[in-house]
Amino acid sequence: MWRPLAEIGRAPGGGYARHGWNDAELACRAWFAERAAERGLATETDRNGNLWAWWGEPGPGAVVTGSHLDSVPSGGAFDGPLGVVSAFLAIDQLRAEGITPRRPVAVAVFCEEEGARFGVACLGSRLLTGALDPARARALTDPHGVTLAEAMRAAGADPDAIGPDPETANRIGCYVELHIEQGRALTEPVGLASAIWPHGRWKYDFSGSADHAGTTRIADRRDPMLTFARMVIAARARAIETGALATVGRVLCEPNGTNAIPARITAWLDARAPDEATLTAVTRAIEADTATASRAHRTGLDVSAESLSPAVDFDGPLRGRLSAILGGSVPVLPTGAGHDAGVLAAVVPTAMLFVRNPTGVSHSPAESAGDGDCAAGVRALARVLAGLVDP
Ligand SMILES: [Zn+2]
Repeated sequence: MWRPLAEIGRAPGGGYARHGWNDAELACRAWFAERAAERGLATETDRNGNLWAWWGEPGPGAVVTGSHLDSVPSGGAFDGPLGVVSAFLAIDQLRAEGITPRRPVAVAVFCEEEGARFGVACLGSRLLTGALDPARARALTDPHGVTLAEAMRAAGADPDAIGPDPETANRIGCYVELHIEQGRALTEPVGLASAIWPHGRWKYDFSGSADHAGTTRIADRRDPMLTFARMVIAARARAIETGALATVGRVLCEPNGTNAIPARITAWLDARAPDEATLTAVTRAIEADTATASRAHRTGLDVSAESLSPAVDFDGPLRGRLSAILGGSVPVLPTGAGHDAGVLAAVVPTAMLFVRNPTGVSHSPAESAGDGDCAAGVRALARVLAGLVDP
């Protein structure tokens, strides 16, 4: 299952660059279609570019599993693909046991989950559920200035069709996403998610005056790099103070010359917290600290929210059911990572299974999962699907 997927979009250093509608992501879509075809599963692409493979007649009440195939820049092999590979293998397992589902089963792949190319995470599931305005989505641009609409058209998809898709959403009876755990909190091979922390992304634009590094007196400088540096320090300090997480992992500098004072810095803040009040508090504090620094350095500052994902408590009854199916002693844990299951939780009962990550490293080529744990994940997912298709 992994072999044909392993080389798609992999850089020489080992990290993956599979981003919404790029060549590598399109190759992943072809891989999905081939895996579905060899199992005789009918496939379709919905209006928002999400993929579906159906075991049984597509229709309401479906038990849906799956995940995503896109990656962060220089991403690992398991974040996303593990859920899709496991979904196909769980279906193989149920078929080998002679099980005929009484409800349709679908394997779903949601588009641009990481938001690595167009800046908004869970793009496909947000559009599907109506959580993202389609006009805003069409105008989103990638780092090269290509809009989502242009990228979709180049890939042969119709950007005018994107938006709320109740017909597709209404077919989902429940959604169970299997995912690699992204920290070290899980000490058993398989666990269940209780909740997702609220999280969001903010874009910080710092502006100053481009000038010569050798001739401009310190007193005359308006250097946005200094304000930016203060913002990074504030993010860490305020995160520690509030018990939240705050990260600056992406930054652009213009003109980006060794001997030039920058004219402009653009940086993105990722913040997450156990509850929404804490998330608001930490992001406001970081913004206030940065505004103070911006005044001191006489630079311009503009902060805009790019996305905000509310806290998700996964469906209690569904989680109880999964817990019973898996034997009751399965560990239950929250996560700070966002997932399509969190977006879909607003409209259908959803649950997540986590597979142990021995190092806890994720969003990195070093992400790993043991073969035995992956196999345990497939077995658990197969048992869950078997239980859910036979109400
Ligand atoms: Zn993921």
